[in-house]
Amino acid sequence: MAKTLRLILGDQLNIKHSWFKEPQSDVTFILLEVMQEQEYVMHHVQKILAFFGAMRNFAHQLTRLGHEVIYVKLDDKDNEQDFAENLKRIIKKKHITRFEYQLPDEYRLDEQLKEICKSLHIETGSADTEHFLTERLDVKNFFGKKTRYLMESFYRNMREKLHVLMDDDEPEGGRWNFDADNRNKYDGKVPLVPPLMFNHDVTALKKMIDAAKVKYFGEVDAEHFAWPLSRQEALSALKYFCEHLLPNFGTYEDAMLQKHISLFHSRMSFAMNVKLVSPFEVVSTVLRYYKKHPKTISLAQVEGYIRQIVGWREFMRGVYWAQMPDYQEKNFFKHRTEIPHWFWDGKTQMNCLKHCIGQSLTDAWAHHIQRLMVIGNFCMLAGINPDDVDAWYLGVYIDAIQWVEITNTRGMSQYADGGVVGSKPYAASAAYINKMSDYCKNCHYDYKKKYGERACPYNSLYWNFYERNAEKLQGNPRIGMAYMTLKKMKPDEKQKIMEQAEQYLDDLNKL
Ligand SMILES: Cc1cc2nc3c(=O)[nH]c(=O)nc-3n(C[C@H](O)[C@H](O)[C@H](O)COP(=O)(O)OP(=O)(O)OC[C@H]3O[C@@H](n4cnc5c(N)ncnc54)[C@H](O)[C@@H]3O)c2cc1C
Ligand code: SF4
Repeated sequence: MAKTLRLILGDQLNIKHSWFKEPQSDVTFILLEVMQEQEYVMHHVQKILAFFGAMRNFAHQLTRLGHEVIYVKLDDKDNEQDFAENLKRIIKKKHITRFEYQLPDEYRLDEQLKEICKSLHIETGSADTEHFLTERLDVKNFFGKKTRYLMESFYRNMREKLHVLMDDDEPEGGRWNFDADNRNKYDGKVPLVPPLMFNHDVTALKKMIDAAKVKYFGEVDAEHFAWPLSRQEALSALKYFCEHLLPNFGTYEDAMLQKHISLFHSRMSFAMNVKLVSPFEVVSTVLRYYKKHPKTISLAQVEGYIRQIVGWREFMRGVYWAQMPDYQEKNFFKHRTEIPHWFWDGKTQMNCLKHCIGQSLTDAWAHHIQRLMVIGNFCMLAGINPDDVDAWYLGVYIDAIQWVEITNTRGMSQYADGGVVGSKPYAASAAYINKMSDYCKNCHYDYKKKYGERACPYNSLYWNFYERNAEKLQGNPRIGMAYMTLKKMKPDEKQKIMEQAEQYLDDLNKL
């Protein structure tokens, strides 16, 4: 009898997929915990535990629904520790006549699975993941020959296509973008709400990865593991977000606070990226709450959130498939400096980085502005090699999968793609960090000083960045102001700033 083996990758936990409509006696599903996936980059311990935990729950769910499932654990004695060898072994053992997989979101795995299929001497086939709102090449086709991709035009097109927040042909409320109403510093006008934390005991999983000597970093409370690991938990997190956080999401989207790491963010990225819930479900749930609670949830909050999912998330995936594999080599500024060692322990005197990196190490999560304007901004100003930056981001965050990590890191935050994703580098001095957070008031450094004792490193590095990259950037109309200011700067003032920057750049490990 013909027998089909279907591979489910760790980020393909989509129970709504047509593969799972009903059990079929000639179909077996396989999930594999393999060292290969632990070693392509060093991961945060919580990321490894979250993937394995969610995969195991998913396999149980499939079994309960009557599907035939093979689950290979990391410490199974015949585990070959990579996809190819495990698949070959099982295909032989189970007399499989056809192999199928869902299209991976990562280029690396896409290539590997194509190779695997070539090497198997049976029929093979692939299926869509049935998760995203767009196809892999939609962004590429949308922008055609353009070298710069503008998210805003893609986003508007998506809103029209999906008819989301539209009044006939016009955007609801008469505007596409409510950024001007959003993005305030936290002012205490509304109370802070704790994030929804789950409470899993993952000590057995942790013991297993320790016994297998998986190399990892970061911290975990394995008895109280906080991330959603099933679809049901992901849906609870979404409900919690809509009820408690959405009413203030947009207003404080960019704010940063020492005592509250996530403010009004949804923390849905892991659940979405492993496909426990789909972007369509997230968007429709948010819209439903908005329609039901017009007095407490304003259009500005909802538009702010929808933009992230319908706009940024789909856009980044499309940029990835339009630009890979060359994208991972891009280094527009030719930055070569090694990442400082305090990225691995958070021990720096710069309070903003101490908190944002520290929180990434303890929680495997930071919000967008912490990733972009504190950590990423520092890396770009300090000239850190984008390869190091990518490896750190891809390892540290619970939601980091290359398609969404590299486009944000190398593209949006480092401008290493020379402006495919962003129209200008996201460079900022201490004034921005002080405006949006409470970090500066507790810092060893003085956010007002550009040079001299305890001058904030962001300030001199900011001007040094523009000065050293003038040839590449000064023609960009969006940063004309920075170059005007540099031009007008008194020579001795400018010299002091540049000397201060050089001193900091000489030994970033000391900052
Ligand atoms: C340097 C850098 C690296 C990043 N790396 C990742 C990553 O590895 N994985 C990842 O999922 N996100 C990444 N992001 C985007 C964003 O920071 C996270 O999606 C977000 O912080 C996750 O928390 P949340 O679910 O509470 O997001 P919310 O603020 O509640 O936003 C809702 C959702 O919108 C989506 N979203 C928001 N911004 C983006 C964006 N720029 N690109 C794609 N989707 C977006 C996410 O799915 C997110 O869950 C990165 C951003 C930057 C600047
Ligand atoms: S003073 Fe500078 S280093 Fe310190 S918290 Fe503010 S921006 Fe960060």
